[in-house]
Amino acid sequence: MTKTRTPAIEGWFTTEGEPALLGTRCRECGTYFFPRETTFCRNPACRSTALDEVPLSRRGTVWSYTTNHYPPPLPYVAPDPFVPYTVAAVELAEEKLVVLGQVVGGVGVSQLRVGMDVELVLETLFEDDEAAHVVWKWRPVDG
Ligand SMILES: [Zn+2]
Repeated sequence: MTKTRTPAIEGWFTTEGEPALLGTRCRECGTYFFPRETTFCRNPACRSTALDEVPLSRRGTVWSYTTNHYPPPLPYVAPDPFVPYTVAAVELAEEKLVVLGQVVGGVGVSQLRVGMDVELVLETLFEDDEAAHVVWKWRPVDG
């Protein structure tokens, strides 16, 4: 039986078709926010409160990376028992926002380098009786 795939963190990314992170974009100045900013634009030169939800680039380049040996803070959800995992800070292709995320299973720091192209995929973070809880992860793009 295939379990339902459900987001481990509600409302942070799409799960249909090609997954994408959900951010917001200021209608006045065009600044992007992730995690989403919904109350007001944080650009100090802008006073807008009009922010639209937008899917963000699925591609980016690695800006830095490390292996975490401790469980992450909320709202990240760590599997139990905890296993060390590799995270990458990725600069999104269009928005130039840096978004932290886990790297797909099987890829460690030795296979990563700064400036490498990666794409967003969804991978199971943990499973319970009802569902596979998925989260976004960065996967190196071949070539
Ligand atoms: Zn703005």
